[in-house]
Amino acid sequence: MTEPRSPERPASGRSVLITGGNRGIGRAIAEAFIAQGDRVAVTTRAGGAPDGALELKADVTDRAAIDAAFTAAEEAHGPVEVLVANAGITRDTLLLRMGDDDWDDVLATNLTGTYNVTRRAAKGMLRLKRGRIILISSVVGLLGSPGQVNYAASKAGLVGMARSLARELGPRGITTNVVAPGYVDTDMTAVLTDEQKAGIRDQVPLGRYAHPDEVAGTVTWLASDAAAYVTGAVIPVDGGLGMGH
Ligand code: NDP
Repeated sequence: MTEPRSPERPASGRSVLITGGNRGIGRAIAEAFIAQGDRVAVTTRAGGAPDGALELKADVTDRAAIDAAFTAAEEAHGPVEVLVANAGITRDTLLLRMGDDDWDDVLATNLTGTYNVTRRAAKGMLRLKRGRIILISSVVGLLGSPGQVNYAASKAGLVGMARSLARELGPRGITTNVVAPGYVDTDMTAVLTDEQKAGIRDQVPLGRYAHPDEVAGTVTWLASDAAAYVTGAVIPVDGGLGMGH
């Protein structure tokens, strides 16, 4: 006998929330969901959400602000059915030069910030008995990278978080997956020197950086009906840099 599927998503656009949806990868993700007719809310500190998105000012490290942002998204679009936890920062430097603030800020934003938004989103998804949670990690979380002890630790932490959530929330019809991009052409990588960029390109089998919309394509797929049976996965979008890790 064929098992029943999880409840189907509604025919009209879903309520999608993306953290850091004003620029870079998050913006490309927001634009992709908007283009397919979903109702999109983006959180940002600086502003500048794409046309068609509900802009919500919230720092992911501020739980009260995140709670208020979700409430506003719910009022405008209904309960959040798709969460993309994308907001992230780097504070790169070698371990012995690393200030405690460099460690604390990166972990607070990338790991605890993701916990903050995921926990808030899960409340509504549990009521709905349906949902997609997508965490944006990095190839660096799996391969490691000199000068990125803080960042790699925060991004590796997302894998453990997602796999635990996949087990906790899977029985309630909620999938949780990780996307691990390689190097993507955004403000985050614009600070690298030309020499660093060339060195990275040399290690990437596809020989180039990703465009942000190439990450967005994997995210919208994970949120689609086609990926209904995918959970606890770590999907690289890295031009082959991590060779499947
Ligand atoms: P950008 O630096 O271009 O953008 C970062 C985004 O995160 C901005 O929207 C920013 O919002 C938001 N953000 C940062 N801190 C906070 C905070 N405390 N609260 C709320 N929002 C915050 O980065 P990318 O687009 O390149 O990166 C997006 C994600 O992808 C990050 O998690 C990053 O680690 C990951 N990634 C990026 C790679 C790359 O090569 N670019 C590779 C692998 C992973 P605001 O403008 O309002 O500050």
